[in-house]
This record gives sequence, C-alpha cells and structure tokens, in this order.
Amino acid sequence: MAARVVTVTAPEPTLLERLYLPEIFKGLARTFSHLAKNIKNIKGLPTILYPEIKRKYSERFRGRHILKTREDGSLTCVACYMCETACPADCIHIEAGEHPVLAYEKYPVKFEIDMLRCVMCGYCVDACPKDAIWMTKDYEMTFFDRKSAVLGIPELTEKPSDTGADGPGYGYRPYEGESPMRKAGQFEPSGLPLLPALLERGLAINRMPPPPPPKAAPPAAAKAG
Ligand code: SF4
Ligand code: SF4
Repeated sequence: MAARVVTVTAPEPTLLERLYLPEIFKGLARTFSHLAKNIKNIKGLPTILYPEIKRKYSERFRGRHILKTREDGSLTCVACYMCETACPADCIHIEAGEHPVLAYEKYPVKFEIDMLRCVMCGYCVDACPKDAIWMTKDYEMTFFDRKSAVLGIPELTEKPSDTGADGPGYGYRPYEGESPMRKAGQFEPSGLPLLPALLERGLAINRMPPPPPPKAAPPAAAKAG
C-alpha cells in the first residue's frame, strides 16, 4: 500500500513576528508586573535583601574557624595534631613548639588552615581534646589569591569582634546542643578548672634544681699483659 504523504506548509511570519516584538513586549510586561507586585509587598518577599539583611543561621553553622584562648591570652591549643589528623581535606598545618610555661607543655608555633581546601565538616572541632578550635557563623570569606586564603594564628585567634553585636557569633563548637551548662549560658571548656593546679605544677617544676652532672665513667680496667 502506498504511504500517505501530508505536506504541511508553515504560515509566513509577519514582520512583527520576525522582529520578535510581541514576545519581547509580553516578557517585559510579565517582568514589570512582578516588579510592581514585589515593591507593593516588599516585606512579604521569600528572598532577603542581602547584604543589608542577613539570614539568622543555626547555632551549629559551620563557618570560619577560631582558636580559643586561655585567660592569660595564650592559645588553648597544645599542638597535639589531632585536628590535623582528623581533617579529611588535609588543610590544617601545625608546627609544635615547647611552651615556656611547663604546665602547657606544647603550643602551636604555626597553625594554618587553607580555607580554599576546607570543606567545613567540623571534624577538627570534634577531634580537639582541649576545646581549642571552634567555628563561627562567618560565611563571608572572600580571597583575591590563594595565599590570603591560608589563615594563620593572627587571623584564627578569637577576637572580641567575633562575638560582638555585629559579629557572626559562635557556630559549631564542642557539645553544641548537648550541654545543659551551655544552654544556661555557662559554657566552659572542660579543662579550665584544672588550669590553676597545672600552672602551680609547672612553676614547681621550674623551681626544681637542675639535675646533677653525670658521674665520670670508671677508668677501663688495664688489659692483662
Ligand atoms: S572543617 Fe573539616 S575540612 Fe575544614 S579544617 Fe576542619 S576538619 Fe578540615
Ligand atoms: S586538636 Fe585541638 S589542641 Fe590539638 S592541635 Fe588541633 S586545635 Fe590544637
């Protein structure tokens, strides 16, 4: 049986259609109608007017890290390398030094986080045995080159502006959401009450007299001729 062939001829577009003018005006009319509706109901918009308005993020938000300090201003970190070991992105680099206060034993001479590699997982916070590394709700991190994305001790050390009225505030941190003390606003790093005793122990060790010099080795027995 012979196939039935249907020939369809498209209508010739008019000049207006060839210039796309009806579609352009239809699109503009839709855009302006939304604009007028949104201006009338600006407070009911589902979007926020960033950066004038910022969204309130969860207390578990994982933003820029901070290194906590002791009451004397020194870093709580004891350069144990636990966070560096736990980091899945291999973006923490620590170099340890001996602290002048013996009770503190070690401290980080160098502590760097490469924020371009960090995946904001919070594992470093979980791994830290000294509650020395926390995260903030700061997500506004922009860098013009790779070098400035590597934050060192000066940038990471906690500053009053981190928790000030205009600051980002604390984000993910140890025991977040679990500690009744923290809920009552009494959060304390767990090792803080031990600090005076440890300091006293360190000072007592510093006061100890140096060990006596090693005794001279006895002369070797003369070989029997
Ligand atoms: S948040 Fe995760 S990826 Fe970033 S430094 Fe900590 S452990 Fe590494
Ligand atoms: S785990 Fe804590 S104490 Fe250990 S090196 Fe990291 S920040 Fe410092």
